[in-house]
Amino acid sequence: MNLAKHLSDTELSAKILRHAVPKMSELNIPVTPVNYAVWYEYYLGINLDLKRAIDGLISNGITFCTEVNDGLHKNFIQEKSPEVIENVQIETQIIINSLFSKVSKLTQGTARLSDTLSDFSQELKQQPDVEVLNTLVNSLVDNIEGVILSNKQMEGSLNTMRDEVSSLKIEMESLNLVAMTDQLTSLNNRRSFEDEVMKHMQEFIQTQSPSCLLLIDIDHFKQFNDTHGHLVGDKVLAYVALALKQAVKGTDFVARYGGEEFVILLPNTELTNALVVAEQLRKVIAERKLTIGKDKKLSLGSITVSLGVSALTLSDDRESYFVRADEALYRAKSTGRNRVCSE
Ligand code: GH3
Ligand code: MG
Ligand code: MG
Repeated sequence: MNLAKHLSDTELSAKILRHAVPKMSELNIPVTPVNYAVWYEYYLGINLDLKRAIDGLISNGITFCTEVNDGLHKNFIQEKSPEVIENVQIETQIIINSLFSKVSKLTQGTARLSDTLSDFSQELKQQPDVEVLNTLVNSLVDNIEGVILSNKQMEGSLNTMRDEVSSLKIEMESLNLVAMTDQLTSLNNRRSFEDEVMKHMQEFIQTQSPSCLLLIDIDHFKQFNDTHGHLVGDKVLAYVALALKQAVKGTDFVARYGGEEFVILLPNTELTNALVVAEQLRKVIAERKLTIGKDKKLSLGSITVSLGVSALTLSDDRESYFVRADEALYRAKSTGRNRVCSE
């Protein structure tokens, strides 16, 4: 089934929701963002490998336990393009927001209804002297009390639902954090950096508050990997990430741009000060003697980095701002490495 035909995004999300949630509950699958992403894709019907895998599991009567659910997510969602994860997050967020507003309205209405019914029941209780009405009244009271009880229960389950949705929202946020974090170094990743640059540019247009960009590339890292192995190389990347993070202020933004390249955004910083920061970073890294192994006895020597620095101008777009730092970095490399160059 392909639900995507002729529908707006919201209609499509709603339609998928109506199919996916009952199916998930039938199969005892908790509706978490991770699981929902899998079933959203299943009902979207485009990811054929995922569809085949799930249909196979169902026809073989396999239980959708945590391992199975996580496996589906890992193999068919996570390893696809991050855009898929982002789309599902946006869709789920829309659904959650609309659920939130509906649920809070319902809770108010139910509480009011309970109040009205409970007033009515009070009034009836004050007229017990009319004998013939006694039985009727009693049954009415019973009825009304029954309604109040079920309303109270409904209110309880709505509150539970609201709490579940709240925790779903928190989980969504942590999923978002995962999508924005580089796994090897725990730094912000490139996507997160792209977002942050946009913020700097908007801030600059509004307040003229200066911003500088540092592009950092480890020197001869291929050679380092060839000598010590990729796993040691990975450790060194994590070390450089930490060194960068520790050497700058909390408001500065450090990200792994990719491979052995890092990028730092310095808000409220003029070029001259950014060059001072860059030089400090270069020095800290070059001076550190790297060791590894038990008791840190194995010396790896030291590594160096080259840095290119650019300052944001009003005529910049995201690319030109980055390119000037990249060109400066290229000059740092071609004039001997282990140095800072600015635009
Ligand atoms: P240069 O001084 O010109 O920057 O030389 P280089 O060797 O650092 O640059 P090059 O672009 O030729 O090679 C980059 C190397 O970085 C290639 C690869 O071995 C290493 N590298 C990139 N990403 C990773 C990673 O995730 N882990 C490890 N261990 N190494 C990586
Ligand atoms: Mg490089
Ligand atoms: Mg390099």
